[in-house]
Amino acid sequence: MFKVGIGYDIHRLVRGRKLILGGLHIPFKKGLLAHSDGDVLVHALCDALLGAANLGDIGIHFPNSDKRYKGISSLKLLEAVNRKLSKAGYKIGNIDSVLLMDQPKINQFRQEIIGNLSAVLKIAPQAISLKATTNEGVGSIGSKAIAGYAVVLLEPRAQSEKRKTKT
Ligand code: MG
Repeated sequence: MFKVGIGYDIHRLVRGRKLILGGLHIPFKKGLLAHSDGDVLVHALCDALLGAANLGDIGIHFPNSDKRYKGISSLKLLEAVNRKLSKAGYKIGNIDSVLLMDQPKINQFRQEIIGNLSAVLKIAPQAISLKATTNEGVGSIGSKAIAGYAVVLLEPRAQSEKRKTKT
């Protein structure tokens, strides 16, 4: 059966942190405050994938009280989520995502971010969409924080693909 999932995340922008989105270090005067690298895009994506497979959420699998995850690259978490999906019998059909942020403009980094996600998830870049928008100055989302949404479609893996997976 096909399954859809939605994920959302938000982190505060603060000085003295690197800005990491989709595993890419983006030059900016501020970064996202978090136990991990604060990658809102990847966190939203992990939650969308886990949600679609009804496997809970990122906080259950990777608690922020656990020292092992301090400062970890969120791409590592995404890789682990992808393995869980595979074991549960799913593969990714497509991903759509949105970042709510005023600055910096990420258009020039879009292809590289999609490339990172595509490499970790082992799916074609064409199956991944990344959009960005401001919040039009309404509230502090976009100026004091960056938020991200992701929606995914999961497809059942064929029996032949399942046999190849090491458990
Ligand atoms: Mg997060």
